[in-house]
Amino acid sequence: MVHVKKGELTQEEKELLEVIGKGTVQETRTLLASKNVRVNCLDESGMTPLMHAAYKGKLDMCKLLLRHGADVNCHQHEHGYTALMFAALSGNKDITWVMLEAGAETDVVNSVGRTAAQMAAFVGQHDCVTVINNFFPRERLDYYTKPQGLDKEPKLPPKLAGPLHKIITTTNLHPVKKCINFLKDGENKLDTLIKSLLKGRPSDGFPIFQEKLIRESIRKFPYCEATLLQQLVRSIAPVEIGSDPTAFSVLTQAITGQVGFMDVEFCTTCGEKGASKRCSVCKMVIYCDQTCQKTHWFAHKKMCKNLKDIYEKQRLEAAKEKREEENNGKLDVNSNCVNEEQSEAETKISQEDRGPKDSVEGEKESLQSDAGSECSPEATAGLQVPEE
Ligand SMILES: [Zn+2]
Ligand SMILES: [Zn+2]
Repeated sequence: MVHVKKGELTQEEKELLEVIGKGTVQETRTLLASKNVRVNCLDESGMTPLMHAAYKGKLDMCKLLLRHGADVNCHQHEHGYTALMFAALSGNKDITWVMLEAGAETDVVNSVGRTAAQMAAFVGQHDCVTVINNFFPRERLDYYTKPQGLDKEPKLPPKLAGPLHKIITTTNLHPVKKCINFLKDGENKLDTLIKSLLKGRPSDGFPIFQEKLIRESIRKFPYCEATLLQQLVRSIAPVEIGSDPTAFSVLTQAITGQVGFMDVEFCTTCGEKGASKRCSVCKMVIYCDQTCQKTHWFAHKKMCKNLKDIYEKQRLEAAKEKREEENNGKLDVNSNCVNEEQSEAETKISQEDRGPKDSVEGEKESLQSDAGSECSPEATAGLQVPEE
C-alpha cells in the first residue's frame, strides 16, 4: 500500500470526514467517487474515515467505506487504536460485527497494550465484548465442509455449516435458545428436548434437567487445565441444584464477562436478554414473545396460579406499607387522598382478574389441544406489555 502521511488531506478528504460526522450516506458515496479522495487517508491523529464512521456509530457508512476498500486493520492512529477498537468504544454491536466480518484482527493492542475487547470492557460496552469474544469466521467452519487430504467425506456435512455457525456465534448460551436456532433452520425435531429442558420439578418449577445438562456439559469439557473451566467448576460445584446462581448464569457471566444482571430481564424460556412480555395472569415470568411463552406454557401452567397468589400478596403488602407510610407521614392531612389511592389499587387488581379472558386466540387453541391440562382455558396466559 502507498505510504499515507498523517494530516495531509485534500479538500475533498476533509469534506469526507465532515460528511461522515454530520452528512448522509449519499454525500459520502459522492465524495468517495472523487479521484481526490483516498479511502484510507489519515487525519492529523492517524484516523481513517472508517475509524471516524465506527466511532460515530454510523453503520451504513462503515459498510460503504469497507466496500470501497477501507483497510479494516489500519494501525496508524497515534494511540494505536484500530477501527474495531473505535467500533467497540462506540458500543454499537452491529458495527463491531461488521468490522469482524471484514477481517478485523482481535488481538491487536493499542499503545497501552489493550485489545479492542479489553477497551470495550473498560468502558462498560459489554455487548461489544461479547460480540468480539464469540466471533468465529464462517470460512473457518466452511473449511471442514470440504474433504481434506485423504478424506473421502467432509468432517462437517455442508448443510449443517449454517446452523452450526449460528450456534457458535449466538452469544446467548441458553440450551433452549440453541435448540430454537436449529429449529428455525429446518428439519430437526427438537421439541421433546426443549420440553425436557423446560420441565420443572413439582415443588417449585425449577428446571432440574436443564441445570443438570449444563453442569454435565461443563464437566465433559475436555481441557481440564483451562482456567475458565476451573473457575466455572469452583463457582458451580458448591451450589445445590435448585439454588442460585444457576449453572446457566455462572456460565454466561464467565463466557461473556457480563455482570450487573440486575438491570435487564431475561426470557424464562430461552434466556434472551431484554425480554419484556409478562405472563398476564401471574406477572411473575417474562418472555421474548408469544412463541417463547407457548413453548414454556406446559411447564408454567402448573406454577402460574401459585405465582399469581404470590404476586398479589406482594402487591397488597406493598400497598399496605405505602398506606401506612403515608398515614404516618401526614396524619393531619385529609384522609381522602389515601382512600382514593386504596380504591385505585383495588380496581387494578380486579382488572387483572379479567386479564386472562383478553388472552390471544391462538394461545387458547394450542392450550386446549394440550390433553390433560389441569387449567381451564380461561387460565391461559395472554401476553401483555409490562405496565411500567
Ligand atoms: Zn425467549
Ligand atoms: Zn403465569
